[in-house]
Amino acid sequence: MSIDHLSLMGVQRWMPRDVEPSVEESVIPREAAVASPSAWQTLEQTVAGCQQCGLCETRTQTVFGVGDRQADLLIVGEAPGYYEDQQGEPFVGRAGQLLNEMLKAIGLDREKVFIANVLKCRPPENRDPTPKEVATCTPYLEQQVQLLQPKVIVAVGRVAAHYLLDSKLPMARLRQQQYTFRATEIPLLVTYHPAYLLRNPNDKKKAYQDLLLIEKIIGKTNALITLQTRTSTSL
Ligand code: URA
Repeated sequence: MSIDHLSLMGVQRWMPRDVEPSVEESVIPREAAVASPSAWQTLEQTVAGCQQCGLCETRTQTVFGVGDRQADLLIVGEAPGYYEDQQGEPFVGRAGQLLNEMLKAIGLDREKVFIANVLKCRPPENRDPTPKEVATCTPYLEQQVQLLQPKVIVAVGRVAAHYLLDSKLPMARLRQQQYTFRATEIPLLVTYHPAYLLRNPNDKKKAYQDLLLIEKIIGKTNALITLQTRTSTSL
């Protein structure tokens, strides 16, 4: 872990690192299937042409998601903002830069994860998504989860956490815990939205604690998959 990224996040590195995860505690989330590029392409084209809610009238373009389509980690944010709507890529504004630093703090590059949003279109004036917009748009995110089959999902911010967990609890109650995504065994964790952290820099320390937990769960999942691979090949 690089100390530079932590200081860029505005966090002093004072937390003790967690001990190595024990394999027995881990959860296995996915089969080793890789979705075909054409399945991704079809979904991306469907999203690009979507006119299922009024946001299609105000968007510049849809924002499908970006990153490695075989990534272990799926980051889910809320919705595109101004810059994302202009560029067609999630998390490219100031919040995106902080998200990149948060990922680097646990040794991950933006290119190595997949980043998507609950909504694929920008709500005007960056207002909160309406329940109807969420209900209309989230089948696309669910298909992305199916294609990606991530090992771990991280919800950044209240809107993503509430949708993915089907909960209305405040962030303070949702973070620092491990859930699973719906009926799957995919571990799901919650942390603060980088835009919130830009407004509330004192909470960056808590976000760093969340990142350490995320790192630990990714490590556990990888350890278990390695163990399973070894066991199945030695049988
Ligand atoms: N905030 C989000 O939740 N998603 C983005 O893509 C950009 C800002």
